Amino acid sequence: MTDYDPGNIFARILRNEVPSARVYEDDEFVAFKDIAPKAPVHILVIPRHEGTTAPSALLESDAGWMGRMVVAATKIARAEGLDERGYRLVMNSGPDAHQEVQHIHLHILGGKSLDSMA
Ligand code: 5GP
Repeated sequence: MTDYDPGNIFARILRNEVPSARVYEDDEFVAFKDIAPKAPVHILVIPRHEGTTAPSALLESDAGWMGRMVVAATKIARAEGLDERGYRLVMNSGPDAHQEVQHIHLHILGGKSLDSMA
């Protein structure tokens, strides 16, 4: 991805140049609390690898790690006690979705009854 900026805030968090409240990490992914939570539990899951800016930039070859990122998010949600009441996984892509940070990420939102999407 030629338009990936290694100076983006999540890349800086990955390099520990910027502090974050990490709740999970493994070889591929890091998860930390959102700085401006939209729900009692609001966690961001990001891949360690740099280069993918947004869902719109995904390729067929990204299917493996993307699937593993979703599974990692479900494990984090379980560890946060969200399984019983439920939660939302969200990915924003591009300006109409108000994507702020150009390092692909998955939001985990829960801990209250979220607004209906219907
Ligand atoms: P987006 O709108 O791109 O899908 O979501 C980006 C998210 O990153 C927002 O919910 C925003 O609050 C969060 N965020 C932006 N800067 C920081 C930061 O420096 N630290 C943390 N923990 N979250 C951030």
